[in-house]
Amino acid sequence: MAQKHMSAVKDFMDYVTARNPHEPEFLSAVREVAETVIPFIEENPKYKGKKIMERLVEPERVIMFRVPWVDDKGEIQVNRGYRVQFNSAIGPYKGGLRFHSTVNLSVLKFLGFEQIFKNSLTSLPMGGAKGGSDFSVRGKTEAEIMRFSQAFMQELFRHIGPDTDVPAGDIGVGGRELGYLFGMYKKLKNEFTGVLTGKGAAWGGSLIRPEATGYGVVYFAEAALNHMGKTIKGMEVAVSGFGNVSWGVVKKVNQLGGKVVTLSGPDGYIYDPDGVKGEKVDFMLRLRASNQDIIRPYAEKFGVEFFPGKKPWERKVDLAIPCAIQNEFDENDARMVVQNKVIGVVEGANMPLTHEAVQIIQENRLLYVPGKAANAGGVAVSGLEMSQNAMHLQWSAEEVDRRLKQIMENIHRNTLKYGMLPDGYVDYKKGANIAGFIKVADAMLAQGVV
Ligand code: GLU
Repeated sequence: MAQKHMSAVKDFMDYVTARNPHEPEFLSAVREVAETVIPFIEENPKYKGKKIMERLVEPERVIMFRVPWVDDKGEIQVNRGYRVQFNSAIGPYKGGLRFHSTVNLSVLKFLGFEQIFKNSLTSLPMGGAKGGSDFSVRGKTEAEIMRFSQAFMQELFRHIGPDTDVPAGDIGVGGRELGYLFGMYKKLKNEFTGVLTGKGAAWGGSLIRPEATGYGVVYFAEAALNHMGKTIKGMEVAVSGFGNVSWGVVKKVNQLGGKVVTLSGPDGYIYDPDGVKGEKVDFMLRLRASNQDIIRPYAEKFGVEFFPGKKPWERKVDLAIPCAIQNEFDENDARMVVQNKVIGVVEGANMPLTHEAVQIIQENRLLYVPGKAANAGGVAVSGLEMSQNAMHLQWSAEEVDRRLKQIMENIHRNTLKYGMLPDGYVDYKKGANIAGFIKVADAMLAQGVV
């Protein structure tokens, strides 16, 4: 990076840090974008001097609220609810809800900020948002999850709407939780509308939405591999997590002839040399529904090795796809992956790699695809769900999958356009940030200072 660009990035980061001193996750998400987008702005008179980045890092609105509910023992519990409505330049606010013990304002601002660029990349008209609560489904009963979801919606409902803000799922919020959230919204508003996406197929949901994030990740990985003259067919893949994203990744890798050999949880990882396939894929859903958040039962049921407290990145595989949570993959993992001659790392989760890990992977010229490009298939099919709801119809699974594949290939082309370096290496981070930025920035400029 040129010296003048480096100091522009530094000045900007000092400014953002001073305004958000206690938000490390948010600051690192901003830094990822600033390092690639600020040099681009500096070189483009159209964007220079318009304070677009200063405006972008300030959410349009943050809603924080109390979520009181009664547990099965009759005790009152109090959680904190949030919705960060970050940017609506290109469409209604759109982004998931996360129920997890690590949720706080910094985490949701990081996710909401990422969502602006991700949604822009899909080419569908969706602004950026994120929300959730520090509630964890771990160890909760079905009835408790229902009561909490209902209490959460009792406040959120007044801030969302099909043309205002359309939440969806994320970690800890799947079909079950979305059902309870939707039921309460419908009761309070007396309206059956497409206010949430990821709904059940029988009540306004899109087919393929549950699989979409993982399918999209693999479509993107395949496009990037094809660009390198390779294919996922015959490859061994290390995956972390065992939730919604991992599940979709496993299914699509299998369909394309690859093999997923690891899954993980907070307790460690399993190594399955035969590959996660057949009934093992369905077992992932049962594990998620058990609310225990551990992977060990997979090893016990299928007689494979379990490595307590370890991460899958120590395996010699062809491709690594982290699908669990932010910062799960650090610089040591990056060094291991380089040493093991892995082809690359494709992010299924949102920012699973630390800043240092990304640097090591890219310096060693391994393939690196950031989540905002690779996992955009989830929100893309959410966008398709919104279209189907608006038209009051439902497309077939084949139709949705075909459109998803097209969208992912389109994102790949777009990121390639801005990410190709003179030495032929593709910097997908740079490509995704700039391609995502242009559409939002153009809309903001057109709409004036609002
Ligand atoms: N939570 C997902 C994401 O990180 C999906 C959001 C949505 O469908 O609105 O993109």
